[in-house]
Amino acid sequence: MLAELPTLLELQEKDRFVEAIKGELAAFEPALEELDDAVRTAEAQVEAARRGIDEAGTSRTQLEERIENFRQAQERRRQRLEWVRGAKEAANLMAELDLGRSVLAREEAEWMRSADKMQEAEGRVTEAEGLLEELRASQAAAREAIAAKQAECQDRLQQAGADREETAKRLSKEALSQYERIRRGRAPLALYAMHGGDACGHCFTAVPMHRRQELQSGQGIVMCEACGVLIYNAETIPAS
Ligand SMILES: [Zn+2]
Repeated sequence: MLAELPTLLELQEKDRFVEAIKGELAAFEPALEELDDAVRTAEAQVEAARRGIDEAGTSRTQLEERIENFRQAQERRRQRLEWVRGAKEAANLMAELDLGRSVLAREEAEWMRSADKMQEAEGRVTEAEGLLEELRASQAAAREAIAAKQAECQDRLQQAGADREETAKRLSKEALSQYERIRRGRAPLALYAMHGGDACGHCFTAVPMHRRQELQSGQGIVMCEACGVLIYNAETIPAS
C-alpha cells in the first residue's frame, strides 16, 4: 500500500479535479431553474387566460339556453292568450307577457355583453401568449450562453474522467477498491496527511501509539480508527 501512496495521491488529485468540474456544472442549475420558473409562470398565465375563454363560452351558452326557454314560455303564453275567454285570466296573461318581455330584454342585453366578455377573454389569451413569446425570446441569449459553458464543462469533465481512469489503472485492485470504498463514505477525501505529527488530518483523532511509530517514520499508511480515512505522513512520501 505504501508503495502505491504516490499514485493514490495522484488519483485523489484527479478526482478532486473531476469533482470541481461537476461543481461548476451544478452551479448552472440555479440560473436555469430561474429561467424555467419564469417560463412556467408565463405558461400558467396563458392557461388561466384560456380557461377564461372557456368560462365565458360556458356562461354564454347557458345564457342562450335560458333565453331560448324564455322565448318558448312567452310563445306558449301568447298562444294561450288567443284561447282564453275570461277577462281576468287574459289580464293575468298580459301581465305575465309584459314581465316576460322585460326579463327577456334584460337577458338579451346580458347576452350582448357576453360577446364583449368573450372578446376580452380572447384578448387576454393573445396578450398572455405574446408575453410568453417575448419571455422565451428574451431568454434565448442567456440559455445559449449557459449551454455553451455547459458543453465546455462537459468536454473538460470527460477529459478529466479519462485522465483519472488512466491513473486508476496503475493501482493494484486492492488499493483501488479500498480507495473507492473510503470515497463512498462520509469523508470528502480518502487520504489525509497526518496532522500535528500524531492525528488524523480529517477528524483529528489521535493515531494509537503502536501505529504512530510506523506513520512517523514513513513506514506505512494507517487507517483512522475514528473516521476510516487513510492517514499518511506527508514528509515521507516515497518516490513514485
Ligand atoms: Zn479520522
